[in-house]
Amino acid sequence: NNAELQQRKQAAFARGEGNAYGIYVAKAKNAELWDVEGKRYIDFGAGIAVVNTGHSHPKVVAAVKAQLDNFSHTCMTITPYESAVKLAEKLVKAVPGNTPKKAMFVTTGAEAVENAVKIARSYTGRSGVIAFNGGFHGRTLLTVGLTGKVQPYKAGFGPFPAELYHVPYPNALLDITEDDSFEALNQLFKCDIDPNRVAAIIVECVQGEGGFHPAPASFLKKLRELCDQKGIMLICDEIQTGFARTGRMFAHEYAGIEADLVTMAKGLGGGFPISAVVGKAEIMDAPQPGGLGGTYAGSPLGTTAGLAVFDVIEEEKLCDRALAIGERMVNHLRDIKDDLPAIVGDIRNLGAMIALELVKDGDIQKPNPELTKAICAKAAEKGLILLSCGTRGNVIRFLPPLTTEMEIIDEGMTLLKSIIREL
Ligand code: PLP
Repeated sequence: NNAELQQRKQAAFARGEGNAYGIYVAKAKNAELWDVEGKRYIDFGAGIAVVNTGHSHPKVVAAVKAQLDNFSHTCMTITPYESAVKLAEKLVKAVPGNTPKKAMFVTTGAEAVENAVKIARSYTGRSGVIAFNGGFHGRTLLTVGLTGKVQPYKAGFGPFPAELYHVPYPNALLDITEDDSFEALNQLFKCDIDPNRVAAIIVECVQGEGGFHPAPASFLKKLRELCDQKGIMLICDEIQTGFARTGRMFAHEYAGIEADLVTMAKGLGGGFPISAVVGKAEIMDAPQPGGLGGTYAGSPLGTTAGLAVFDVIEEEKLCDRALAIGERMVNHLRDIKDDLPAIVGDIRNLGAMIALELVKDGDIQKPNPELTKAICAKAAEKGLILLSCGTRGNVIRFLPPLTTEMEIIDEGMTLLKSIIREL
């Protein structure tokens, strides 16, 4: 049972790998999970934005099973296979902008970010990298160095690689304007690093772990202009936002910008570990042969799953579904705000990245992480998986599979309403 497994996990696992709810999954289908005791849950987390196509989508499962029957691994850098070529072809077409693109594969989001930085450094011959406060880019030493939040990600793990810098991310709720961000960048260029030594600026178009804050399109456009002026590579980290999650294939489409490099993972494999960097061909080709890759880079199971994910996104119109789900959930959240205005500081979304910010006295300056935690814990007890996020720990983020039936969305949100009323 769950309790016994939790005990065994605590005995056998390093505590750094947390486990929020002590729920052990036996089976998952689309937006529903069942634990080892047979209890059903609605999953509004989608494995942290991974199963945009739903848990065990029949198409993805069938494709991967067929691939397993043929071969499971040969190493793409030694004896490659067609699924990897096809997926790269799909990706270079899917990424916004007219400049010809190329792709490379690795396995996790953090590795994609690591490689994007390597490629940017190789192309520019520069070393500095600028990221944003509140941003999250992974847990390896470089990517956690780029990550903006100290607890729990960075504390005790330094020193991080040199020449990583942070500036504020625009956030209307915290009164941080676009101008403040650019002012901080200018200050950085004056005092800390000559812009001619900056290889890349990495940005999430919607900060994910940081609290589901979409960057204004005007900010991303200006960032693009700044990078053009200074010869800096603009890396859009689309690891959480990609693959129809925001109502577009990639979130930076909303800003109408072309990134130099795009990192992607999570939704790409629909549950099978695969990640990629896609960027302008000339930039992608800067590193020497053998400089990129890895044993499991672009594993055949991942590339096959990725191809099936592309088909499902198209066939089931998941961009449209993301918008419809976003609207439906936001309407439910507005009911909560109408009912209990004192606890809701903000409701925001971009497609199916939906956030409920919990506060005290209806005051956005008074975050309520305790209530956030209590709601998530109670929800798990009652059969609803929710995730929290945010630099202040007071945001419930909703990331349902984009294939979730509307009845399940309504069922989950009705349950949430009753939980919040009871707390
Ligand atoms: N970048 C962003 C924007 C993310 O949301 C994440 C994971 O949450 C990562 C990078 C790291 O991905 P991974 O956990 O697969 O290494």
